[in-house]
Amino acid sequence: MSDLTTDLTTTDAAELGRLLSAGEVTAAEVTRAYLDRIEAEDGELGAYLHVDAEAALRTAEQVDAARANGDELGPLAGIPLALKDVVVTEGVPTTSGSTILEGWRPPYDATVAARLKAAGTVLLGKTNMDEFAMGSSTENSAYQVTRNPWDADRIPGGSSGGSSAAVAAGLAPWAIGTDTGGSIRQPAAVTGLVGHKPTYGSVSRYGLIAFSSSLDQAGPMTRTVLDAALLHEAIAGHDPLDSTSIAAGVPVLAEAARRGAEGELAGLKVGVVTELGGDGHTDGYEPGVLSAFAEAVALLESLGAEVRQVSCPAFDLALPAYYLIAPSEASSNLARFDGVRYGLRAGDDGDRDLDEVMALTREQGFGPEVKRRIILGTYALSSGYYDAYYGQAQKVRTLITRDFTSAWDDVDVLVSPTSPTVAWPIGARVDDPIAMYAADLCTLPASLAGVPAISVPCGLSEGLPVGFQVVAPALADDRCYRVAAALEAAQDAARGARFLDQLAGGAA
Ligand code: GLN
Repeated sequence: MSDLTTDLTTTDAAELGRLLSAGEVTAAEVTRAYLDRIEAEDGELGAYLHVDAEAALRTAEQVDAARANGDELGPLAGIPLALKDVVVTEGVPTTSGSTILEGWRPPYDATVAARLKAAGTVLLGKTNMDEFAMGSSTENSAYQVTRNPWDADRIPGGSSGGSSAAVAAGLAPWAIGTDTGGSIRQPAAVTGLVGHKPTYGSVSRYGLIAFSSSLDQAGPMTRTVLDAALLHEAIAGHDPLDSTSIAAGVPVLAEAARRGAEGELAGLKVGVVTELGGDGHTDGYEPGVLSAFAEAVALLESLGAEVRQVSCPAFDLALPAYYLIAPSEASSNLARFDGVRYGLRAGDDGDRDLDEVMALTREQGFGPEVKRRIILGTYALSSGYYDAYYGQAQKVRTLITRDFTSAWDDVDVLVSPTSPTVAWPIGARVDDPIAMYAADLCTLPASLAGVPAISVPCGLSEGLPVGFQVVAPALADDRCYRVAAALEAAQDAARGARFLDQLAGGAA
């Protein structure tokens, strides 16, 4: 059993699903393998905020019993999973990385959590994150630092850094993250995973603790492109409980990934975004990132893609626009944390009036980055400054959307590095918010335009993973999967060929 245990935590989720359906392993065995590994390694890694081993095993045993009973089970039944702690889970602690929600056990499930439960997945636990998903390193968590499995002295990205670290270290086969300005794609990039931000409105936001409602989307973080497509299909589709949910069916994604893996991209038009690391726009981009990216573009070309440069001038303004819009929405969304309805209540000793209790609760319950955003957003929305800040940022948002729209006249997808750098050392940017924000340079345009974007690994720079971003028009998420799967397969083939060369060289 011990050999099998080792294998189970390195097996991708699609293969786990096959082993489970074929009766070659039980859900309890798979779950126990992951729980053992969490027990052994998470003390050091810090990926999880909450693990309930007993509940996970109970769910797994129920799935096994149903299977033994001959019940009709879906393809995901019995596969373990981790959820970012921003996803509300009934009866399971949910903090969004904040002291203000410490100890809160929500009375309901987010739609994403409910769908995954209905699919028979086994919840291993809730993963660490930057407080209220504000950050790019997970260092803004009120609870703990999470380490990058590739180098324990480096950040795992953020804000879904608990999810990225858990999957990259084999402490979950896959996980759900959320992405407002890059929080699925950037942590996936810096830990060597696949991460996809779906088209805005295609995955329900019901029960995601709101950061910036016009931007937030949940999505998959996985080891393979096919796994991401499978997990995405399980959470997608219309939800009447989310007023911005698109009335469309579940997209066909796994099929696109399988087709992509066959490697045929003849006739596909790929645009390399000049403003994201291209000529004259390389400031802040590490040379190793740019060369890994260029190699991946060449691989796509070798598969038959037609590659050209595409200029999107308004992308240069995405960073300031996002850092006005997201804090503005956050300042409004976070008003609900008032010490009255749920979570922390500070200073309620009978002598203080309601306003004082609210002020004290927010003073003690929110960390510095969250306060910074609330202050910034409140300022940007205030009557004297609304037009100059929030209004201008919305205009830039429209210009960015127009850049995408005109790009789609010429190309099928746009590509760029996912992040300008590899994972940086823990602590290096905590005192420099602007440097922290700069990590989002490449991911923000797709967020502001609501279009889908995937990050897929494209090699290493100085031994650390680099991510390749593929952006597609709204509702064409399948294109992201097709291109990402083609790249993944081509890289595997190239690695295989190099390995054989080395073997031949060694034998000579
Ligand atoms: N790093 C960005 C921010 O701090 C994006 C966060 C996210 O996507 N949740 O706002």
